[in-house]
This record gives sequence, structure tokens and C-alpha cells, in this order.
Amino acid sequence: MSLMDTAQWHGAIFDGAWRTAGGGSADIIEPATGESLGRAGLADPADLTRSVERAARVQPGWAATPYEERAAIMRRAGDLIESNADEIMGWVSRETGAAPAIAGLSQHVSAQECFEAAALPARAYGELIPTMSPRLSMVRRRPAGVVGVISPFNVPLVLSIRSVAPALALGNTVVLKPDPRTPVSGGLLIARIFEEAGLPAGALHVLPGGADVGVALVEAPPVRVISFTGSTAAGRKVGEAAARHLKRAHLELGGNSALVVLDDADLDLATGAGAFGSFIHQGQICMTTGRHLVAESIADEYLDRLVAKAEAIKVGDPTQPGVALGPIIDAGQRDKIAELVDSSVAGGARLRAGGSHDGLFYRPTVLDQVTPDTPAWANEVFGPVAPVMSFSSLDEAAALASASEYGLSLGVLTADPLRGLELADRIPTGVVHVNDQTVGDEAVAPFGGLAASGTGSRFGTPQANVEAFTETQWVTLQSRVPSYPF
Ligand code: NAD
Repeated sequence: MSLMDTAQWHGAIFDGAWRTAGGGSADIIEPATGESLGRAGLADPADLTRSVERAARVQPGWAATPYEERAAIMRRAGDLIESNADEIMGWVSRETGAAPAIAGLSQHVSAQECFEAAALPARAYGELIPTMSPRLSMVRRRPAGVVGVISPFNVPLVLSIRSVAPALALGNTVVLKPDPRTPVSGGLLIARIFEEAGLPAGALHVLPGGADVGVALVEAPPVRVISFTGSTAAGRKVGEAAARHLKRAHLELGGNSALVVLDDADLDLATGAGAFGSFIHQGQICMTTGRHLVAESIADEYLDRLVAKAEAIKVGDPTQPGVALGPIIDAGQRDKIAELVDSSVAGGARLRAGGSHDGLFYRPTVLDQVTPDTPAWANEVFGPVAPVMSFSSLDEAAALASASEYGLSLGVLTADPLRGLELADRIPTGVVHVNDQTVGDEAVAPFGGLAASGTGSRFGTPQANVEAFTETQWVTLQSRVPSYPF
């Protein structure tokens, strides 16, 4: 049976069962064709209130479910993602415009997230600590309660499930709000996976909706922890609101990651990595290579080769053979990209490739003669745009790479990896790849950014997940009440 081959989810939200959404429904538009892929329910404030209250009621029972059973549900969820791989990749591809490389990666990483989460329930959840009295003194971790997850449109399946799976595995219940442009791969598909995996009804809620539903989720009293992935602008608002309500917010935000190409790098491999880092998934990845810093002695040759690669890339409907880049998610995002590129060119940058679009299909773009103030260099473009700048010393490369409000990922390409790591040590960032471009994700790797890229590594390792989705409690235990002086 296929996962989404049921009429139930159309126009509905998921609160353990499929319910008609209070906020009506909207077409899910396939960006490559403009066709409707179905109708998704849109949650309203009453739906949200009902869901968070139900999630709070269900949570103690779910936390008390034997650890083996919680682990088995996570394993079954992972198995379902594997056994329904084609259908899942099809949804990711058609709903987000992802080419097969990204659709396949999304499916694979999502299954791995569930398998890694399956190891969490069986972990020791505390330790005995020294104490001054004849008693047992211990630290234990308890589920945080109801976790709110808010995810973006670009890689929605992974960016939702990387919070949903560990939060559930550790005994929390979850209310997930996906982006309304990608309600299926960001949420409704995940609801079907966990429904089929046997998760008790009410432990997971999926409420597609806009920013207003996200705001209400952050403010809802039963929600104790927010796991947010999205833009820095929205993340700041989420962080502010969470602080006002004294809640923890884990924020995974934007980026403008640098790829530094040293003078001893293999030029052919370097331009291949650079093109992939900037253009894959139309540049709509938080870790996208947003800035190319190339040693002066090889910069001209690097640019020529990057331009040749950009011009050779086939852009179109990603479900068609040979297409490497699909569409931008919608006209609003495309216009933001066009505006950053156009204003860069107006400000003196030279357009070496691309800079044009046909509908939502934006050509891979290469810019040179950029300065630190060029809009496409200074900002997160979130499109297939590669601005290139040269440097004449390692000091200059370190200074230019560090001159960003973001700190998500960094790539350094060099024949001398130790020299690459020494350079990386001077550039503040959450992820470093020596001899690779900036985009990469594995379920077991810590992931998170610094500064405007977020609040640090909250995914990928058991420690990070336990830190993110549980509370610490100090417990003492002794055989009788001590006698006190008064
Ligand atoms: P966005 O911030 O506009 O939206 C993300 C989600 O937040 C959506 O579900 C949206 O409805 C919701 N939202 C928006 N405003 C909100 C508010 N005030 N309160 C609560 N929820 C709110 O992001 P986007 O532009 O759709 O996504 C792209 C951005 O996400 C880029 O900046 C990208 O770098 C970032 N991103 C970061 C990571 C990461 O792990 N660091 C991963 C993917 C994307």
C-alpha cells in the first residue's frame, strides 16, 4: 500500500486522526508545472489549541510506554521510509522542485534520523552523583513535555523529522507546523509514516499553516520547547517570543557560507565542488556556498571553469531525465533572488553566467568583480548564485570569510589539508569541511550554526538530542527523613 494513497489527508490536518481543518484548505502547487498535487488542510487557532492540549494529555502515557516499544515504533518508521522510498522521493521532488540527488538524500537521511532516534529510548537517562549525606543523589533526564516543531519549505522532510523523531523517541509529544507550501513532505507524509508505524494517537499532530499558526504554537502554554528551522528574521521573532514565555527555543537559521579555494587546489575538482555547493537544489539550502573566495593566482581560471559548468547545467522539471536543477519554490522567492542579482550588477558586479529566469526556472548564475558590499555577496541569496572574489593572502582569506553575520558552514579546498584546517580555525562556523564544499548532512553528525545562523548544534548526536528535548532533574533518595534542629 502506498503511504499517501488515501483520500483521508486531503483538506485535513492530523491530530491522531484526520480532521477537517478549521482554516480551510489550499492547493499544493507543484512549482515545476503549476499543477495542483492535492489540497492540504490549513490549521486555525482553535485547531492549534485543541492539538496542544491533547498532546499535553497524551504525553505522560507516551513517556511511560516501555522503551522497547518506543524504539520499535522509530525503527518501523525508518523501515517505512525505506520501503516507500520511490513514493517519498516523488513527493519531495514534485512538491519542493528537488532533483533526484536531493530527493534521494532527503529520503535516506530521514530514514536514518528514525533509526538513530530508535537508539535513544534505550540509553541510560541519568547518573549517580556524589552527595554529603547517606543517600542516593542522582541526575535524571525527563521528557520536556510537548515539543513544537516549525519547519521551512526547502528540505522539509529532513528538517521536520530531524526534530520530530528524537523528540518522540525521548518521550515527548510533538506538534509540527510545516510550511504551507510543502505540507506533505514537511508534515502530512510524516503523520502517515508514524500512523502506520503504530505511534499512539495524539502523540504527533501535524498542522500546516502560515506564520500566524507558528506564532500561536510558540505562545501556547503547554508547549515547553520549540525546535525552529527557518530564516534568521523569523528565528529572531521566535526566540523573542519564546523568551517572553520562558521557553527553550532551538533555532537553526540562515547562512552565507564561504568556500575558500587555496592556490594549490585541483582546479577541476574545485570548480566541480564550487558549482555543486552553490547550485544544488537551486541554492535553496541553508549551507549553500554563498561566497567563493579564490586565491588570486588561480582566480581567472577558476571563474572560467565555473562559468562553463554553470552554462552546461540543465534546468527544468526535476522529474524529467537529465535535469540537475529544478524550479525555485515560488515567484516571491524567485523575485528576491532576481532583485539581489540585479542590484549586484547595477552596483558594479559582472554577470559571467545566468542572471535570467524562465518562469520559476532560474539559471545558475556566476558573478565576479564583487565587493563585500555587493548585495549577492553580503546577503543570503537562497538561490543558484555563485559570487566569486579573489584574495592575495591567507590573512585576507580568513578576514573575508569571517566577515559575515552568519556562521553555518565552511569549505576549504587545498592539497594540504592541515593548512586548510589551520585556516578554518580562524573562521567562526558550526561546520567545517576540508576538501569539500559547504553542503552536507548526516543523521549522526552534529549540525548547527553560530551567530545569526542559530543557537548551536542541536541535531545529530544523542547528546545534542537529549540536551534539546529533555529537562534535567536532581533527585535524592534516603531511607528516612533526617532530623533537623528546629
Ligand atoms: P521562514 O523563516 O520564512 O519560514 C520557516 C517556517 O517558519 C515556516 O513554517 C513559516 O511559516 C514559519 N514562520 C515564519 N514566521 C514565523 C514566526 N514569526 N513565528 C513562528 N513561525 C514562523 O523561512 P523560509 O524562508 O521559508 O526558509 C528558508 C530559510 O530557512 C533560509 O534562511 C534558510 O537558510 C533557513 N534554513 C535553515 C536551516 C538550518 O538548519 N540552519 C535549514 C533549512 C533552512
